[in-house]
Amino acid sequence: MIAVIMIDALAKEYINHMSFLKKLASSNIFIETYLPLAGFEHRHYLLWGRYPDEIDKYTMYRKTKKSPFRMLVPFLPLLKKIENYPELNSKIKKYISKTVSFLNGYKINLNNIPYEFAPYFDMSGDRKPIEKLKIEEYDSIFDIFKKNKISYKYLWYPYTKGTDTDKKRIQEFKSTIKEKKHDVVFLHLSNLDKYGHEYGLSKKTFFQVKKMDNVLEDILSKKEVEKFILFGDHGMVETKSSLDVMKKLSKLKKENKLNDLVWFVDSTTLRLWYKKSQTKKKVGRFLKKLSSFGYLMDKKMRKKYHLEFNHDLFGVDIFVLKKKYVFVPSFFSNTKVKGMHGYLPEDNPSFLICSGKNKKISTASEIDVLPTLLDLLSLYSDATDLPGQSLLKR
Ligand SMILES: [Zn+2]
Repeated sequence: MIAVIMIDALAKEYINHMSFLKKLASSNIFIETYLPLAGFEHRHYLLWGRYPDEIDKYTMYRKTKKSPFRMLVPFLPLLKKIENYPELNSKIKKYISKTVSFLNGYKINLNNIPYEFAPYFDMSGDRKPIEKLKIEEYDSIFDIFKKNKISYKYLWYPYTKGTDTDKKRIQEFKSTIKEKKHDVVFLHLSNLDKYGHEYGLSKKTFFQVKKMDNVLEDILSKKEVEKFILFGDHGMVETKSSLDVMKKLSKLKKENKLNDLVWFVDSTTLRLWYKKSQTKKKVGRFLKKLSSFGYLMDKKMRKKYHLEFNHDLFGVDIFVLKKKYVFVPSFFSNTKVKGMHGYLPEDNPSFLICSGKNKKISTASEIDVLPTLLDLLSLYSDATDLPGQSLLKR
């Protein structure tokens, strides 16, 4: 059995607090700097072994003409007033999210999206179980498994009932491997993400990192686990200061009457849409003033990070924060956190360890995980058209 373990927000530097993993790294294949791909849809990148613009996945929300929140339009004047009463507002948002999800048949959350912008957006991923999702002509890992009669158990997000905490998933993992019915078991451990956001890269987090190390020792020492691949979906960075970009943008929009200007603030990424070239120009000038905080991606950068989509649904322009900065508020939260991720790949690396002849490789990318896993399963012939390469062969 092969264990495929994804640890949420496993920062590169955490290995210094994980004595078991350090030992494991010294006798297997160890990638010191594992670079996530740009964006927020890591499960899709991993399970398809493709770049964001190949499979059209980048952020959780994207702009659309058919937003399920269009039904809010007649109520916008009232809802905007409610926005001034935080407690009532959060109750109403929950109610709307529930109702809209029910009416549309998939889970969609209003989070902290201002009502003014909600009718422009829809979810981009996770409308149906990921194991059933088809993305153009590309085979997912599940398609490859089916073709090769590989039996697997999927304990990654989105979780099935009863596996919604790390503790429950670890239990499920242990009972699954005992059954010896599966060739591959996927395990997602998410606690470190929570602690990293709350405490940053501090003693409190490192204490939890040590606990995670013990959990992993327990799991990976089981005799049923013959091979493994373990990595973080991304790292975690201690934040320094926050930027209220929404306030600045609202002022710019109001003062210049930029009615065609729409934005979405992910915690570390600002995405912008406009129809008029005049608006684009004005916003461009505004963003230039923010260049100490981040980068407005030019064509070269979009190419480098594989964000050359053949549409503007993820943003006409994309502005990414430099590490240590964070947008507060964002469309997800009003509170400043001590740790954040979602920066450009080089700015929030993780590490990776997998079964194999002892060797240390300085860097590898998220794109290499699927070819490596297929290689571990002796299915490398199915990986030949993938853009990544097996770490066993490097
Ligand atoms: Zn997170």
